[in-house]
Amino acid sequence: MDSVERQFCALLQDEGIGTLYERIVKGRMLRGLAEKYGYTSILEFGIPVTRGYDNLPFLEQGLQVTVADADVEHARAVWPFSQMPTFSTLETAPMADLVWSFARVQLDVAVLDHMLAHARRHVLVFVPNILNPGAPLHAAYHLVTRARCHHAERGPARLRTRAGLVKLLRQRGLHVVDSGYIDAPPIPNIAFSLRELRDAFGLRSNGATPGKPSAKDPAPMWSRIEALTRFESLPVTRSMRPILGHHIFAIGAM
Ligand SMILES: [Zn+2]
Repeated sequence: MDSVERQFCALLQDEGIGTLYERIVKGRMLRGLAEKYGYTSILEFGIPVTRGYDNLPFLEQGLQVTVADADVEHARAVWPFSQMPTFSTLETAPMADLVWSFARVQLDVAVLDHMLAHARRHVLVFVPNILNPGAPLHAAYHLVTRARCHHAERGPARLRTRAGLVKLLRQRGLHVVDSGYIDAPPIPNIAFSLRELRDAFGLRSNGATPGKPSAKDPAPMWSRIEALTRFESLPVTRSMRPILGHHIFAIGAM
């Protein structure tokens, strides 16, 4: 277990295994991209879903990392790691080699244009995969609970397919250097948490408040996640990624 994954598993366990799994496989991907393309500066443009935490691998690599968000004071206040990025508002964000965002452009394609204005080399966008079997479960959750959807699993279906995402980047004049699926464990992406489900049905009242988490033993959680990543890397499941993948990514070159 490296330092990044140890910190994720120690400090972010309360997010649940699905979210933690997503952070770990995404972290491995981001680290690989930085090695492959030799970025020196990174900007995550808007962090409502990630909270910026997925930049920890970049920070470990010694890169210049900026986390930009509308509510930057909150982002700074809850930051759990000792390595700190630069925090910025969206308006004052600097240029960077790689500008990335998670689960934002399917809600508002203008986000992509703002990202392009800040990118020197690449933009990287992730969107939730409409074909994942969790999508109808997520829809059912809102139908039954009548809770308003604040999750990232919204937005036009065409932007939540690989072909649609690639087309969007090409329409902006970008050369798409890679695209594909990530985060493909044998668990559907239901998007809502079991905590939300219990709250919606009034089944829970122990009032855990979000804030800075306390550290837990990372080893058992990491072992469970490692077992799931082996599933994701099996040749037989690779071909099923268009369905199993929770998220689609595309990288566009300026
Ligand atoms: Zn929702």
